[in-house]
Amino acid sequence: MAAPSTGPYDIAVAGAGIFGLSIAHAAIRAGLKTVVLEADRVGAGSSGGLLGALMPHMPARWNPKKEFQFQALSGLEGHVSRLEAETGLSCGYRRCGRILPLTTADRLAHHRERAEESKLRWHPDRSGFTYQVEAPGSRSDWLYPEAAPFGIVYETLAARISPRAYLAALAAHVRRHGTLMEGAEVTGFDETTRQVQLSGSAAPVAAGCLVISGGFRAFDLIESLTGENVGRGEKGQALLLEGAGLSGRPAIYCDGLYVVPHDDGTVAVGSTSDREFTDSAPSPERTDELLRRATAFCPALAGRAVLSQWAGIRPRCHKRDPLIGPLPGSHAIHAATGGFKISFGIAHLVADCLIADITGREAAHRLPATFRPDNHFGTSRLDADG
Ligand SMILES: Cc1cc2nc3c(=O)[nH]c(=O)nc-3n(C[C@H](O)[C@H](O)[C@H](O)COP(=O)(O)OP(=O)(O)OC[C@H]3O[C@@H](n4cnc5c(N)ncnc54)[C@H](O)[C@@H]3O)c2cc1C
Repeated sequence: MAAPSTGPYDIAVAGAGIFGLSIAHAAIRAGLKTVVLEADRVGAGSSGGLLGALMPHMPARWNPKKEFQFQALSGLEGHVSRLEAETGLSCGYRRCGRILPLTTADRLAHHRERAEESKLRWHPDRSGFTYQVEAPGSRSDWLYPEAAPFGIVYETLAARISPRAYLAALAAHVRRHGTLMEGAEVTGFDETTRQVQLSGSAAPVAAGCLVISGGFRAFDLIESLTGENVGRGEKGQALLLEGAGLSGRPAIYCDGLYVVPHDDGTVAVGSTSDREFTDSAPSPERTDELLRRATAFCPALAGRAVLSQWAGIRPRCHKRDPLIGPLPGSHAIHAATGGFKISFGIAHLVADCLIADITGREAAHRLPATFRPDNHFGTSRLDADG
C-alpha cells in the first residue's frame, strides 16, 4: 500500500529502476519537487540485477549515439563520486577496462582500424582512454590463449558498477530530498487536472508532469495512452560466482558473454537473451549454460561456487534506441525507457537531458535524434525490429 502523498509535485516519475531513479535524482538537483511512484519495490525490474557492465560502443562508424554514450561513460565517474558523497553509500564503481578476444585475421584487421579511430574519437590525450591491440597470449591467466588466437583488444574506457548498490544510493537520495512511494502502480495521467492515476483504491497524486519509466511494462502504459506499441521485453539471465582475488581484473566480453569482477569479491557472468518467455524467473538450464560457456574462455572461473542466479526483462524499443521525451500530442507526459543493454552507462545523462527539456533549461549534451519520440512513433512496423 502506497504512503499518502504530500503533493502537489512538480514531477512524478513512474518506476524505480535505473532510468526512473536517475531522472528523479536529476529533477531534485534541478530544484523540482519530485515523487517516484513504483508499482512494486526499488529494483523490482531489470535494474535489480548482477552484471553492471558499463561498456562503450566500438570506435568505428561514429555517430551521435556513440558520441552521447562516450560522453555519458566519460562523465559517470564524477556523477557516481558526487552521489556517493551525497549519500555516504558506495556504488561499487570501477573503471576496470575490458578485453575482447580476436578470433580471426579479419577481426584483427578491423580492430587495428578501430584502435586508430579511437585516437580521434576518444581523445586519449585529454581523456586517457586507450584502445589497443595486444599480441596472442597476452593476459592468458584471465582469457585462454585458445579463445584469442589473433590476440586481444584491451580498452580502458569500459567500467563496471554494482547495479543494486547504485540503485540503493539513488533511492536514498530520492528518499532524503523527495518522495518515493513503493506499491504505487501508475495507470494514467489526467492532463487537465494534472492528476496521476494509481491502480486499486489509491488516491491520485497531483503533479505537473509525469515521466513513464516503467521498463518493459512502460510499453503497455504508453500504448494505452497513444494507441501505439513501440517496444517489448527481452529476458536475460546472469549469475554470480565467488570471485576472491579477481576484483582488479578487467571485464571480458567473449562468446557474447560478459565476465565482470566486482569489489565485493564476486564475479558476475551474463547474460542470455530470450525474446520468448513466460516469466522472469531464472532457469537452471541457463545457469548451466552460462557457467559452461564462461569457463570455456576464462580459466580463473573454473571451480568457483555459484552464489546466486538472477533473470530480468529488459526494455527494448522496436527502433532499438531508447525512447526519451514527450508522448505524441502531450507536453506533460514523457517517456524514458528502452535502454535495453546499456541503461546503466547512459541513465544519468539521459536524465539530465530530459530534465533540461522539461524545465526549459539548456542541456550540457544533446540527446541523439534517434532517442526522440519522432523516431519511435508513427513509423511502420515494417522497418522496425531489425
Ligand atoms: C540479465 C541482464 C543483464 C544486464 N546487464 C546489463 C549491464 O551489464 N549493463 C547495462 O547497462 N544494462 C544491463 N542490462 C539492461 C538493464 O538492466 C536495463 O536496460 C535497465 O535495467 C532498464 O532500466 P529501467 O529503469 O528502464 O527499467 P526497470 O529496471 O525494469 O525498472 C522499471 C520499474 O518500473 C516499475 N513499473 C513498471 N510499470 C509501472 C507502473 N505502471 N507504475 C509504477 N511503476 C512501474 C517496475 O516495477 C520496475 O521497478 C541487463 C539486463 C538483464 C536482464
